[in-house]
Amino acid sequence: MLLIPHFRQGAKAAQKRERNTDKASKGSKSQAKVNEAAKSIVCGVCKQPFLITTRSPALIEHAEKKHSKTMEDCFPGVPK
Ligand SMILES: [Zn+2]
Repeated sequence: MLLIPHFRQGAKAAQKRERNTDKASKGSKSQAKVNEAAKSIVCGVCKQPFLITTRSPALIEHAEKKHSKTMEDCFPGVPK
C-alpha cells in the first residue's frame, strides 16, 4: 500500500519537471530566433552563416581550411 502514494508523488514530480523543461525549451526557442538574426556573416562560397560577432581568425580559418581561399574570397566586405 505504501507503493501507490510513493508512485503518485514520483509522477507528480515528473510532471513538474516536464513543465519546467517545456518552459526552458520555449525560452531557448526565442533565443534561437535572436541567434538567427545575429547570423549576418554568410560565407559566399558555401553559404554557411556565421554570427556577426565571429572573429576574423575563425573566418580566415573557414576560408582556408574549407575552400583553400582567402577571407576576402569567402567574406567580401567583412573587416579583418
Ligand atoms: Zn564556406
